[in-house]
Amino acid sequence: MLTLESATVRFGRRMALDAVDLEVADHEIVCVLGPSGSGKSTLLRVVAGLQPMDGGRVLLGGADQAGVPVHRRGLGLMFQDHQLFPHRDVGANVAFGLRMHAAGRAERERGVADLLELVGLPGAERRAVAALSGGEQQRVALARALAPSPKLLMLDEPLGQLDRSLRERLVVELRTLFGRLGTTVLAVTHDQGEAFALADRVVVMRDGRIAQTGTPLEVWQRPASAFVARFLGFDN
Ligand code: ATP
Ligand code: MG
Repeated sequence: MLTLESATVRFGRRMALDAVDLEVADHEIVCVLGPSGSGKSTLLRVVAGLQPMDGGRVLLGGADQAGVPVHRRGLGLMFQDHQLFPHRDVGANVAFGLRMHAAGRAERERGVADLLELVGLPGAERRAVAALSGGEQQRVALARALAPSPKLLMLDEPLGQLDRSLRERLVVELRTLFGRLGTTVLAVTHDQGEAFALADRVVVMRDGRIAQTGTPLEVWQRPASAFVARFLGFDN
């Protein structure tokens, strides 16, 4: 699905991404973990084409994405500041995601209802976004990201604003949902519990490099370095 070859991004002397190689297979759920400033968001932005690279390649489905704009990459995006339109209702927010699709009006309305059902907010079309709880808003953002039936869904701290118990519940729901839809997911999180519950594979980043990748169990049982062990331990 996704291949990064030697992806490199510099900000002055700082390497935000230092020749990163990464493969994400079809239907795989990969979670990127790592301390603040380790390059997690930069990685997603590069895949989306929102951050130019100083070197390297991004391939989606085998096709080099150089020069392909974000809306042509077949991605679903949900970033931490999920930027719903606060003055439009839930239905309008989700329909915005469907526009990417160039769907007709009738098709769009059916799509919105299905998507809201999918994220556990059936019948919420006419509700005001401003009157939703944080968790409900996150679900709306997710429905919007899923609307164009993305080949690859990218989430940056998707549950960042929520309290622990709600996060734990949502993570289990998301895992089930992605499994059912066969969605390929690349998600960033600070929270190792979240990553371990959601991911088929985790990627631990440090200073713009991949410190380790493996299944949650592999990384947990055999951390590749003192850094990874410490990072997992600290975050516990
Ligand atoms: P966090 O967990 O805090 O979100 P992160 O792992 O997502 O961190 P990035 O946002 O990818 O980290 O940033 C990686 C490095 O690149 C950091 O040192 C950051 O300060 C730097 N950086 C990111 N964007 C820019 C920018 N637009 N200009 C200059 N430096 C930047
Ligand atoms: Mg970030």
